Amino acid sequence: MNGTLTLVATPIGNLGDLSPRAVEALAGADLVCCEDTRRTGSLLKHVGVRAAELKRVDEHTEFEAIPAVLDRLSAGEQIVLVSDAGTPGVSDPGERLVSAAISADHEVTTIPGPVAAISALVASGLPTGRFVFEGFLARKGRARDEQVAAIAGERRTVVLYESPNRVAATLMLLAERCGADRRAVIARELTKLHEEFRRGTLAELATWAAGGVKGEVVLVIDGATDVAELEDAQLVERLSVARAGGASRRDAVDAVVAETGAKKRRVYELALNL
Ligand code: SAM
Repeated sequence: MNGTLTLVATPIGNLGDLSPRAVEALAGADLVCCEDTRRTGSLLKHVGVRAAELKRVDEHTEFEAIPAVLDRLSAGEQIVLVSDAGTPGVSDPGERLVSAAISADHEVTTIPGPVAAISALVASGLPTGRFVFEGFLARKGRARDEQVAAIAGERRTVVLYESPNRVAATLMLLAERCGADRRAVIARELTKLHEEFRRGTLAELATWAAGGVKGEVVLVIDGATDVAELEDAQLVERLSVARAGGASRRDAVDAVVAETGAKKRRVYELALNL
């Protein structure tokens, strides 16, 4: 019998969201890999499952856990991977294990369920047809500037994870770079007692968040609606980031034109004045 690695989604707050198929997979697994054995242990207890074995596989141990997990898959075992909450691999461990299992020709499957990003998106009221997920923004430096510049020109709805103590600063930066009037939604404490969807402009949400935010949050940001509305300052910001990253003037212009759809002549003239 072939072993299978199954990624199982678990609740992001409300324990009632653990699916019957998830319970079945957890109960039938030879090994459950999880970020925190105590946390997953209490989830299993809640549904009356006694796991055959729990093993800690978190962001620090995922890489070193790979050889042992591959050996056990080769021996035909059924291995489940869960994270603390939601879907493994989504801003959580999983990607490296999945990639290693696939490279070693093992079967990989998933039992779908909660993902905070998707719940926030679908209830946000912002366009859901096309969206991008950015995970957590870099905390500082050029990587953060580049991500924010990309969001400023992004036409699709953008979904971000953020910690409650950084959300005010992030919203302030986004309001400054994407335009204070860009619509956005903070989805807070999804599926929990104090679930809240706070809708407004980036500037309004930044002001609200400055008073302190409690609980887990997802930010959903409207796409840039009309390229013509992109301010010169926003194009200049993107040009500066590209130039600071080592791009020649011509490459920076091409990149900004490709990202934003703005007229090449306009971007070129802005680049000349940088
Ligand atoms: N794997 C998870 C998923 O599928 O959504 C995400 C894990 S990531 C480490 C944790 C982040 O997800 C939090 O900082 C927050 O941005 C978001 N999150 C998780 N649960 C949430 C909830 N109940 N309400 C709002 N955001 C949540």
